Amino acid sequence: MRYPPMGEEGQRRLSQSRALICGCGALGSVIANTLARSGVGSLRIVDRDFLETNNLQRQVLFDEQDVADGLPKAIAAANKLKKINSQIAVEPIVTDVDFKNIGDLVADVDVIVDGTDNFETRMLVNDIALERGLPWVYGGCLGAEGQTMTIVPGETACLRCLMRETPPPGTTPTCDTAGILAPIINVIASFQANEAMKILSGNRDAISRVLTVIDMWDNRVRQVSLESLRSAGDCPACNRSEFPWLSGARASHSAILCGRNAVQLSPPAGASLSFSELAAKLASVGQVKQNKYLLRATIEGYVLTIFPDGRAIIGGTDDTAVARGVYSKYVGT
Ligand SMILES: [Zn+2]
Repeated sequence: MRYPPMGEEGQRRLSQSRALICGCGALGSVIANTLARSGVGSLRIVDRDFLETNNLQRQVLFDEQDVADGLPKAIAAANKLKKINSQIAVEPIVTDVDFKNIGDLVADVDVIVDGTDNFETRMLVNDIALERGLPWVYGGCLGAEGQTMTIVPGETACLRCLMRETPPPGTTPTCDTAGILAPIINVIASFQANEAMKILSGNRDAISRVLTVIDMWDNRVRQVSLESLRSAGDCPACNRSEFPWLSGARASHSAILCGRNAVQLSPPAGASLSFSELAAKLASVGQVKQNKYLLRATIEGYVLTIFPDGRAIIGGTDDTAVARGVYSKYVGT
């Protein structure tokens, strides 16, 4: 409140606003932590993954006990955020964001902040943001480099102004090949949280209108104007309202998880599983553990993590076909 551009009015607006944090790993941890402490009134946190020890190097909301408890990241994040600020509402949702559920996820929010690790989800977020006229803040990190931009539909360039398509698989470095150093995460996520606070407090005139790229190892900061991309007027999303990720035309039913040697498989629509039946079945072939959020079975070197809606993360392979084979062999088609 004492910072003049924010003031009492800005703080009051923050307390009445709602943010969707899409993905709560490394970037999402820092974003959620900052927005919660800053008093943003309502945080909806959606994440598809569960915690592993190697996440702790950079995912600052979590600790060893969360890993030992086998918690999904969204649940562990909400538990921690409620201890940090009991006066805000935190709503954790454990799911994969896709074209079927994104409309509900953004239904009543004022901003979307990107904590995902993949361009397919970002393109989907870009589509819904432009369709609904919702601002969103992109961020991504790899190695010691990160980038961020703020998208206000109708005012700034969007992600598709910058790139028409998601990079083809195998053409870009990943967390597996390049790793990620922790400091760049904190820098990029802090930029993102700061931009979200400007938007939510009614200070849109202060947002960044450039793409910012920072390399923490080589000590380089670049800022690239996107005005010419926007004024070119040929973006399929901005200019022709074409939203192929939102229509489902680009939806995929599997995803290789960055840095995890694991593949996520989406369930058939409307699937729902009985954990107790499945646990009994799998206990005859491997080791089974479960809590109320997920069931985990270790079988023949693979670790199957299965969620109540039938979604699964198959650890021990980054080959989609192998993962599908393991799923259909032990869970069913
Ligand atoms: Zn655009």
